[in-house]
Amino acid sequence: MTFAQLPLDSRLHKALDTLGLHRPTAVQLEAVPAALAGRDLLVSAATGSGKTAAYLLPVLQRLLDHAAAPGGTRALVLSPTRELARQVLKQARQLSAFTSLQCNVIAGGADFKYQRALLRKDPELLVATPGRLLEHIQRHSADLGGLEVLVIDEADRMLDMGFAEAVLAIVQASATQRQTLLFSATLAGGKIARIAASVLRNPSAIELNSVRDRHADIRQQVLLADNRRHKDQVLNWLLSHEQFDKALVFTNTKTQASRLRGLLAYHRHRIGALHGDMPQEERNRVMDRFRRGHIDVMVATDIAARGLDIKGVDLVINYDMARSGDDYIHRIGRTGRAGDKGLAISLVQAGEWNLKAMIERYLRQTFEPREIAALKASYRGPKKLKTSGKSAASGKRPQQRKAAVTKSKQRHRDRKNIGKRRAPSRTMPAVDLGDGLAPLKKH
Ligand code: AMP
Repeated sequence: MTFAQLPLDSRLHKALDTLGLHRPTAVQLEAVPAALAGRDLLVSAATGSGKTAAYLLPVLQRLLDHAAAPGGTRALVLSPTRELARQVLKQARQLSAFTSLQCNVIAGGADFKYQRALLRKDPELLVATPGRLLEHIQRHSADLGGLEVLVIDEADRMLDMGFAEAVLAIVQASATQRQTLLFSATLAGGKIARIAASVLRNPSAIELNSVRDRHADIRQQVLLADNRRHKDQVLNWLLSHEQFDKALVFTNTKTQASRLRGLLAYHRHRIGALHGDMPQEERNRVMDRFRRGHIDVMVATDIAARGLDIKGVDLVINYDMARSGDDYIHRIGRTGRAGDKGLAISLVQAGEWNLKAMIERYLRQTFEPREIAALKASYRGPKKLKTSGKSAASGKRPQQRKAAVTKSKQRHRDRKNIGKRRAPSRTMPAVDLGDGLAPLKKH
């Protein structure tokens, strides 16, 4: 299947040709026709799957199909971060390059009055971060009364970042007769279900590249570490010995990101840092230097790096283990984008082992162990349970073996206690490690 077979305006086909995009990705194949048919959509697609074009193409097609309503925004894309909003705008401008449609961005960190003037020109397609757009709505400089299509991109991130109320207020201010497309890396959890129920009407649910599917193009490794000092040495070793074009190093805190920037600069790596406390201009400058290859290592926190599409990132290092399976997926999704190969290495010390194990269970895969001969960790993972030869040889997994050992002990106790009065047994509460991901019907 090629883009030529999709019923899109010739000007959009021309833009796709110019961009060298010929074959739709899986999410584009499913979402474009469904959105062109006018349906509301609830789409889960992994980062890097081509989801931006999957919604931009039908949105632009719709704007080209119908005559413009007088004034106001016709299509709105809500994005969680300024960087992502700018990336979406860039793609919107590329795809609409051969049309007269106007696209623009409203995000925090830019001059309000300038944005007000920009909104007066009524760009047909607006990409916005929720907080700043809501301010414009409240001050009557943005009008969504004639909105035809609303796209909520990276909805899970949006909710994680506390934008639920702002998003709902924007939906309230939008025309009720509109098409709504909701995209999210994951549809897990009640929050997404609630927001989907309140903004979508009878949506087609498309669950592609389930976030828990293995990222086939990304090798995922784990390297054990003893402490922060050891991690610093391992990180420096990896950045000095691995072959890579661009590397992203993730930390869980801004202070850690700043500290590592200093440390790695001292070791003469060409490095930059990206975190939420930096002024927007500086963030843009660092991103630009990274894109152009003036620096090849970037230390970043999750918030700062969310949704970034940077070509050529082939190494992701989790200096701190991600706090959740979804954060992990977002991090490693920065590499292996659109068919590129990538390597993701997580540095795990004792306190992070359980987190690593939880993420492996969530992804239903086991990371490849890796060791650097010169920097072996004394930490070898949690101590193995002592098991009888019989159950160890039975090929059972550790948890099954543990259950078998507990059961045999229980039988032994039961035999000793025959005839005695029994104390009520204490049972452990069940721990739900599931993610509450409800199976979705494919339309
Ligand atoms: P996204 O998932 O929207 O962040 O897109 C990830 C990357 O895939 C971007 O750099 C897009 O330019 C690229 N891309 C989008 N659609 C296609 C396609 N049909 N073929 C090849 N690359 C694509």
